[in-house]
Amino acid sequence: MSQYWSEVVHGLTPYVPGEQPKIAGLIKLNTNECPYGPSMRVLQAIREAASEDLRLYPDPEARALKEAIAAHHGLQAEQVFVGNGSDEVLAHVFQALLKHDAPLLMPDISYSFYPVYARLYGLVTRQLPLRENFGIGIDDYVQAGRAGRAGGIIIPNPNAPTGMALSLTDVERLLAGSRNIVVVIDEAYVDFGAQTAATLIDRYPNLLVVRTLSKARALAGLRVGYALGHVDLIQALVRVKDSFNSYPLDRLAIAGGVAAMQDEAWFERTRSLVIASRDTLVRGLEQHGFEVLPSAANFVFARHPRHGGAELAARLRELRILVRHFRQPERIAPFLRITVGTEAQCQALLQALDDLQLPATRASVTSQHTA
Ligand SMILES: *Cc1c(COP(=O)(O)O)cnc(C)c1O
Repeated sequence: MSQYWSEVVHGLTPYVPGEQPKIAGLIKLNTNECPYGPSMRVLQAIREAASEDLRLYPDPEARALKEAIAAHHGLQAEQVFVGNGSDEVLAHVFQALLKHDAPLLMPDISYSFYPVYARLYGLVTRQLPLRENFGIGIDDYVQAGRAGRAGGIIIPNPNAPTGMALSLTDVERLLAGSRNIVVVIDEAYVDFGAQTAATLIDRYPNLLVVRTLSKARALAGLRVGYALGHVDLIQALVRVKDSFNSYPLDRLAIAGGVAAMQDEAWFERTRSLVIASRDTLVRGLEQHGFEVLPSAANFVFARHPRHGGAELAARLRELRILVRHFRQPERIAPFLRITVGTEAQCQALLQALDDLQLPATRASVTSQHTA
């Protein structure tokens, strides 16, 4: 606290990212990074870009990257916005498209950065509770929108931290029922088992899809994210960006991002590996008595009937394995969010659970999937 702080800063509750430990040798299953290194083509492109040209500003439009992204999704470059990680893209989205008089709707259990942006930009929010099975109730959103009680909607698909996916049919029902407001679908984890809404962009001018290269393209350290949507939505984001930072992506990020979007073979191979290890992890956790929510992401959300989430996270940490635990909201306090690692890392986690000697009763599994 300081007398020099602005009113806004006094009112902030900043997001707390997962731990990035300084200690070597920890198994890091806490921040949903990819356990494999990025495509060699990405590293090569970045090396080539590390040249004397760094004295020059990058392309403020990052046109080459927009074209590579557009080509991957079968869209036009004008339907693409790029930013310094999808967190920055999301921040601009809140200011450019979601700040209205009526409240912004979001799930009560969701990406905890959303309420932080809402605070930063002075948005009113309304959190709609997840259903009993932790699924998202589409009708709740449509009804609130119909009654004119919504200024926008933001939902991650798959949701974080539950990992549960909405079907494309449900997403389309949400869009069709909310045509007068912007609907943002945050697809940070979509490549691990959900259906993208990018295919609906030409039919729904109120849809904005937000994506990142941090998870499925193993580039969390490069900071590249993007949004896909109708040109009018993209223009709003460009206006905010050009009032904030003309060059959010540096030359290395643009070069690496282009190469990442073009290496489809690496992408397919890596996500299949992650999906296969997720199956190992889910089966192993269930054998240790955990209840695991159905995951379409590169992490699983699991609880043990007899051990609290905080306790388990602390005991695993003693065994040099990091997982994520959220104390709030209370409904998810029993859960651990565990990133899918390599096969060996998943085995190490299961071995650690053996060492903890949890009772081997099988938990009852909740009814599958979303409302
Ligand atoms: C990881 C994550 C992001 C942020 O990704 P960056 O591109 O690394 O900023 C956005 N939304 C959700 C739901 C995420 O889990």
